[in-house]
Formats: sequence, structure tokens, C-alpha cells
Amino acid sequence: MFSLVICICYSIMDTVMSESVSQLRQELWLAYRALSRTLRALQRDAPMVRGSLYLLRRKCGKPTCRCARGQLHATWVLTRSEGGKSRLYPVAPDQRGALRPLAREYRRWQRTRALLIKESARLVTLTDQLADQRLQVWPPAPGDGPGTG
Ligand SMILES: [Zn+2]
Repeated sequence: MFSLVICICYSIMDTVMSESVSQLRQELWLAYRALSRTLRALQRDAPMVRGSLYLLRRKCGKPTCRCARGQLHATWVLTRSEGGKSRLYPVAPDQRGALRPLAREYRRWQRTRALLIKESARLVTLTDQLADQRLQVWPPAPGDGPGTG
């Protein structure tokens, strides 16, 4: 009677395990498809410029200037980190229109690259989880071996 109970338990465990394996395989496949979409997005060959474009408002320091009364000077700048330092590049009005889509494309690339890192990690995690399902305990714990039950 006791061994029959054990057999039923094992067969339930097998069913649970195979359901989780097929679920993991399905998740792995979905993760793989998501990753391939991300890779395709990264294959774009649209040109880009590293940095962010923004409107800088500041005071020039002259006490008689309009900026001293709150009307700040506005300059478009491209900002980016270079060797750990933040750099600002002024952008002339006639350059702004051309630069904007280039900086936007860079931001888009950055976001997609971040996604690639996340999705790659997910793929590895799922692969490891599938491997865990295949792992057998060895050496067996004392009393678990054949002929001792
Ligand atoms: Zn001023």
C-alpha cells in the first residue's frame, strides 16, 4: 500500500514537471521571437548622432541684461557624456532641424539596445530553468538508492 502511494506521488510529480517544461519551452520560444524582433530593429541603418538635444535657458551675468529681469537666454544644445564628463555643444538654429531626427534615432537605438540586454538575460534564465528540469540528483542521498527501499 505504501509503495502504491509513492508511485501515485511520482506520477503526479512527472505530470507537473512536464507541464512546466512545456510551459518553459513555450516561454523560451516567445522570448526568442521577442529577441529576434529587437535584433531586427537594431539592424536599421538610419544615421544617428550620440547625445540629447535640449533647450538650455540661462543668465549671461550682465546685471543690465534682460536675463537679469527673468527673460533668460535660450540656446539649443546637444549634450552627451564623453569620458565620464558631461559635454554641451551649442546647436545653431540652421542645424537644429537636421540634428533633431539624428538625436531621436540615437535615443531610439539606446532604448532598443537596453531591451536587447533584458531579453538576452531572459533567454539565458529560461534556458537555465529548462536545464534545472533535466538535472538529476547525484550521488543519491543515503537510503534513496536501489535495493534500499
Ligand atoms: Zn543676459
